[in-house]
Amino acid sequence: MTFQYAPAPESTAIVNINSSNDLFINGEFTPGHGNPFKTINPATEEVLAEIAHANEEDVNSAVMAARKAYDKTWSKMSGRDRGKYLFRIARLIQERSRELAVLETLDNGKPIRESRDVDIPIAAAHFFYHAGWADKLEFAGYGDNPRPLGVVAQVIPWNFPLLMLAWKIAPALATGNTVVLKPAETTSLTALLFAEICQQADLPPGVVNIITGAGETGRMLVEHPDVNKVAFTGSTAVGQAIQRQIAGTHKRLTLELGGKAANIVFDDAPIDQAVEGIVNGIFFNQGHVCCAGSRLLLQESIAEQTIDSLKRRLVTLRLGDPLDKNTDIGAINSREQLDRIIDLTKSGEDEGAQRWSPDCVIPQKGFWFAPTVFTNVTQAHRIAREEIFGPVLSVLTFRTPDEAIEKANNTAYGLSAGIWTEKGSRILAMANKVRAGVVWANTFNRFDPTSPFGGYKESGFGREGGVQGLGAYLTSEETS
Ligand code: NAP
Ligand code: MG
Repeated sequence: MTFQYAPAPESTAIVNINSSNDLFINGEFTPGHGNPFKTINPATEEVLAEIAHANEEDVNSAVMAARKAYDKTWSKMSGRDRGKYLFRIARLIQERSRELAVLETLDNGKPIRESRDVDIPIAAAHFFYHAGWADKLEFAGYGDNPRPLGVVAQVIPWNFPLLMLAWKIAPALATGNTVVLKPAETTSLTALLFAEICQQADLPPGVVNIITGAGETGRMLVEHPDVNKVAFTGSTAVGQAIQRQIAGTHKRLTLELGGKAANIVFDDAPIDQAVEGIVNGIFFNQGHVCCAGSRLLLQESIAEQTIDSLKRRLVTLRLGDPLDKNTDIGAINSREQLDRIIDLTKSGEDEGAQRWSPDCVIPQKGFWFAPTVFTNVTQAHRIAREEIFGPVLSVLTFRTPDEAIEKANNTAYGLSAGIWTEKGSRILAMANKVRAGVVWANTFNRFDPTSPFGGYKESGFGREGGVQGLGAYLTSEETS
């Protein structure tokens, strides 16, 4: 006899969503001059709210507000005082964490268990961590008197809306820069709630400005002549376009782009633990994770056994209402992303890979994709080369460590990798040879503000987090 879980939905009563939302410029909510757009709940396709659209005039006002705040207040303030604001913001994120988690799940489609236990706590941790740095920057290894850069333009994607905002805003403010941030079109709501938190924290006007809009708003922000630095997280194609746009200007740039990580399992690995890591690696956040372990490399002698265990585990995953506390797999963020996943998985079948999914009931409304595993995958297949950004795993095999390294590095990307083995010496040898910015050993998808994150090759450049991440927002030159 199997027992079924009773539904355990999180209440939405804690959030109050405004039916129409303004831009946040110079410490005030102000209407945008473009045509407003709607944001939906991808699990139900219901409209949640209308969002203001920033046009060129609004982008200008936001950059001007950030410049004024930089010149008059923020760059002149002591690190100790800046730190106090960051601590205050961190505590407010904690205090309002339930509200933020529910809002994130409604707007993004991710399971409440993840927004509650991962996204929001790590967002708060980024502010706490960087608050601690604000008055110690001269000891960070960037010279005796490291200076901020000025006004920073930040553009982020939809997969971890509040968390990516925290990765961007916390180091920028701690180092004395002011910010104009554009969230992704489908997930603006938690960024606007964060704007409210800035007001609640009494952050001086103009230090943080949030402008909502589509890709075009992002382009105008990045191109604005009074911006000193651009920090972008998103697709490789847009990252490359930004790099071209700002070439020849004085602007500094960091790019966090796509990935196609190898998760490498050796025959001496603890298989049950590895299976948990494989599941976490590719099915966490519906696979909408730039560092997802989307290519599983199994040593040939344990391949069959591992795939069997993996399939048994996947049968137990629960897909459905993201607000249910028992849900493992939530909704795909948009129809557009769902279409991309469908297209790439179809190519997997057409090119001869073998497709498997557990039986699961797909809800009628909303955007969903069952967890999917492809075996018989070769390195030439599109599903082994292109980023799917969905709950789809491609399994390849190898015989020797050298073959594993060759296959792991046979990609245009280089963001992350996983190594599963009981030998410490093998972990170190592999980590040195895998061309990836982050290498996890006997675990996967672990994030911590003290640890730098970033890529090689087409996964971008620059690091976020840790003492290394501070360098992206500092200069040893005199800027004013
Ligand atoms: P995307 O299309 O590149 O969008 C990212 C952000 O850029 C959005 O805010 C987008 O606005 C904006 N944008 C679009 N065109 C622009 C332009 N020409 N100039 C300036 N901004 C522009 O990426 P996505 O499809 O939303 O996100 C998925 C991708 O992000 C994946 O490839 C994933 O690997 C990558 N990602 C990387 C990391 C990392 O840390 N390396 C983390 C998360 C995601 P709109 O939303 O309005 O289009
Ligand atoms: Mg939405």
